[in-house]
Amino acid sequence: MVSFEEARSIIFDNIQPVGTERIHLLEAAGRVLAEDVAAPWDLPLWDNSAMDGYAVRSEDCQTTPCKLRVNGFLPAGAQADRITVETGSAVRIMTGAPTPSGCDAVVPVEETDDGKEEVTLMEQVNKGQHVRFRAEDVAAGAVFVRNGTIIRPPEINMLAGFGLALVPVYRRPTVAILSTGDELVELGRTPGPGEIINSNTLSLAAAVQETGCIPRIIGIARDNRESHLEKFREGLKADVLITSAGVSAGDCDLVRDILEELGARQLFWKVGIKPGGPTAFAIYGASPVFSLPGNPVSTMITFEEFVRPALLKMQGRQRVLRPFFKAVLREGLRKKPGKVQIVRVRLEKEDGRWYATSSGNQQTAILKTMVDAQAIAVLPSGSTVFSVGDEVDVHFYGNHIELE
Ligand code: AMP
Ligand code: MG
Repeated sequence: MVSFEEARSIIFDNIQPVGTERIHLLEAAGRVLAEDVAAPWDLPLWDNSAMDGYAVRSEDCQTTPCKLRVNGFLPAGAQADRITVETGSAVRIMTGAPTPSGCDAVVPVEETDDGKEEVTLMEQVNKGQHVRFRAEDVAAGAVFVRNGTIIRPPEINMLAGFGLALVPVYRRPTVAILSTGDELVELGRTPGPGEIINSNTLSLAAAVQETGCIPRIIGIARDNRESHLEKFREGLKADVLITSAGVSAGDCDLVRDILEELGARQLFWKVGIKPGGPTAFAIYGASPVFSLPGNPVSTMITFEEFVRPALLKMQGRQRVLRPFFKAVLREGLRKKPGKVQIVRVRLEKEDGRWYATSSGNQQTAILKTMVDAQAIAVLPSGSTVFSVGDEVDVHFYGNHIELE
């Protein structure tokens, strides 16, 4: 058995991004940049006005108020080449229009009498005011987004502003999802005696999708060698394989033997975590294989703690663990030593502190308390007794948590 922390470091040491591709900016939100990107030109490309108003020479405006002739008009989109601000004059200018030669300041229309032929400036004018200078945002050649950056609307705006329609990003791995068990029937069928619906495939597909990876549903391997071999071979074509069930010590638990037979390198097959102990990790070629326990709560918890961070790392993400924070226990908890214990909790914030309450019955087979959980408390392996008022480490569970 490896510890919770050892399991994570074995996983992280054995995975890497699966490659890169160039995609259109419209598809790029949430993806991770795979190269540093340098500005192809200055931003802005020319000095321009930050206000609707008048382009002036600040040296002409030393008195307040001050009167100037208006000899020209520059709307946004106009070219300033043939216009000059002559001494004693001003050019009417709109926001974003290039500032004409001679101009070293813009006076907002609100600080004038809005004159058409002649304008009176009411306020003091400082050199450089309301002018956006060439390259003041980013100079040509400067790196403005780095490899590893998650692409959000601001990054998209800037990349688009530089005319970069295609961006280099880490590829989204395909993730095969395979359930095992003779008791399973697919969603859409009514379970008969002894049967249950293969719900793990659905929640794993959703969880995979939330990470940004592409789920490939393989279906159900029945509890015999032939069926396992066929389905595992199919699943191993993907960048990642996740299986559920058949990985503990029961008579019908074939997953380990089948992976062995197919030539996967097994790196661990039991972890000091509860629930979720019978979790195995192997490498087949370059592809990670996560064999998760079948109990839906254990499947989801081990996905959350081991698979999710791995899938994020494979997409070039650098911070892959959900941030921990401290929460004060509203009720006491006990556990056995030697394993990390996961507790499903609800959270409340009071006077700037988080308080955690168990979401209910913590037995592995109880699914409703997983539904009710907003966060996960991770109790360290060494400790056994947690009292009311003790602080524990928690992290949110799910990408779309809502708290009262
Ligand atoms: P096993 O590891 O095969 O003994 O399965 C452990 C428990 O998880 C059993 O109660 C199974 O019925 C249940 N289980 C296994 N696979 C699934 C699945 N795909 N969907 C829902 N429950 C499952
Ligand atoms: Mg089974």
